[in-house]
Amino acid sequence: MTQAAPGNTDIANLGMSNGSGSEPSRLKFSGSDRFIRELRKRVDAYFERTGRSKRDCPQMYFKTATILAWFATSYLLLLFFATSWWTVVPLAVVLGLSIAAIGFNIQHDGGHRAYSNHQWVNKIMALTLDLMGGSSYMWDWKHNSIHHTYPNIDGQDDDINLGFLGRLAPQQRRLGFHRYQGIYLWLLYGFIAIKWHLIDDFYQLFRGRIGAHKIPRPKGKDLAIFIAGKVVFFSIAFGIPMLLHPWWAVLLVYGLAAFVSGVVLSVVFQLAHCVGEADFPVPIAAEGGGERMQTDWAIHQVQTTVDFARGNRVLCWFVGGLNFQIEHHLFHKICHIHYPALSKLVEEACHEFGVRYAAQKSLFSAIASHFHWLVRMGQPNVIANDLPAA
Ligand SMILES: [Zn+2]
Repeated sequence: MTQAAPGNTDIANLGMSNGSGSEPSRLKFSGSDRFIRELRKRVDAYFERTGRSKRDCPQMYFKTATILAWFATSYLLLLFFATSWWTVVPLAVVLGLSIAAIGFNIQHDGGHRAYSNHQWVNKIMALTLDLMGGSSYMWDWKHNSIHHTYPNIDGQDDDINLGFLGRLAPQQRRLGFHRYQGIYLWLLYGFIAIKWHLIDDFYQLFRGRIGAHKIPRPKGKDLAIFIAGKVVFFSIAFGIPMLLHPWWAVLLVYGLAAFVSGVVLSVVFQLAHCVGEADFPVPIAAEGGGERMQTDWAIHQVQTTVDFARGNRVLCWFVGGLNFQIEHHLFHKICHIHYPALSKLVEEACHEFGVRYAAQKSLFSAIASHFHWLVRMGQPNVIANDLPAA
């Protein structure tokens, strides 16, 4: 039995091509969906029992106001009050962290429609990404539809594709200098946000593609939001500050804040997927043509994702529950503040159904695991660990 990904309806419209212009096909999952059906039943029972709401949680509105105030304060202090390097540098770092916090908490929940039952509220929260320099339209395709359907599948999941710069999956080609990627990639992560702001969105819009996936170009209202978002971002990041400060100082502050947010955002996502504890499954030939995965969609999400530092409440607050990324992948339309409670139900069900549930004890062990994975992938003797039998 083959099945489409149940969690992502957008993917039904998503063309996939090998880049050579061949006919689009869609990769499907297979196997029993008993695990996710049972898990959804238990999660629904939890919400009924506790009387909590899956979305529109008062804590989220408070958290949103706190983070936006954090962002506005550091931005305004930089704009009007910081005059020496020893005030500018720490404030730019603090601004970068606030941008990451907006991404993890506000934009991510809004973009997943996990913030509110009202779609206009989700939309407004998702638009905070446009304010921060990324396009919420492109993100919806890249993250919501592609990454969340096909995590850790090489050739499908654009989040594990660094091009020639790094090898994150065993199926990817190794180049000689990847031997050093355990060191240099941490630095390159910092430039991801800058590349995203200045190149990626425009390039993907121009090509109508994200990696191997064709995407519809934004039209009408979506295109207007794309353009308006870029105008607002460039005004906030460069235009307004340049009225008050020298251009080189504005560029340096932008570079530092974007670098900090890029490192933090990238590393948190990498810790959940690009570690030795996560699988990198490959599709197999399906009867009747095309390809299929060997597991059900939900089991694939668990096996390709790893939680970390589940007891660290401060970290959990800052990263918007993304240290509970297994729960996020299974229930991405539920507000992240519920993930710690849901993780107990998910872990229990995984044990019962014989699905491996992986969690790193601490942030440090998760970072160490990502480092070891990068080193391992950079070695010449590592071959694909999950290739199907010929
Ligand atoms: Zn997500």
